Amino acid sequence: MRLTKQRKLILERLRNSKSHPTATEIFDKVRAELPNISLGTVYRNLDILSKQGFVKKIETCGDQKRFDAVTRDHLHVICSRCGKVRDVEGEFDLDVDKLAGIDSDFTITGIRFEILGICPACLANRS
Ligand code: ZN
Ligand code: MN
Repeated sequence: MRLTKQRKLILERLRNSKSHPTATEIFDKVRAELPNISLGTVYRNLDILSKQGFVKKIETCGDQKRFDAVTRDHLHVICSRCGKVRDVEGEFDLDVDKLAGIDSDFTITGIRFEILGICPACLANRS
């Protein structure tokens, strides 16, 4: 029961966030309400939630993993200075069928696509 309560709160906090937080950031939010929770527990629950399809892990190069409660296919723009991740609005066609001509002996199942940019805060802090 306790695990269920923790997992629900983690999912709730993630759903209320648009910032694609890291496990550490989620831990900080959840700890305000469950002071005894550990970072390891947050990691474990995020892992279970992602295996169950409730959250998505966002893989970005060289950064801590970030988490997203929006599980439909959508694109992200990533700040190349601070690693901040935001959703990209608007339609973008990444049709897997169009990748059929790719020269590989793998069966192509998808494409991972990152848009890089500089976020407004980093741009404002430029010296
Ligand atoms: Zn930034
Ligand atoms: Mn997202």
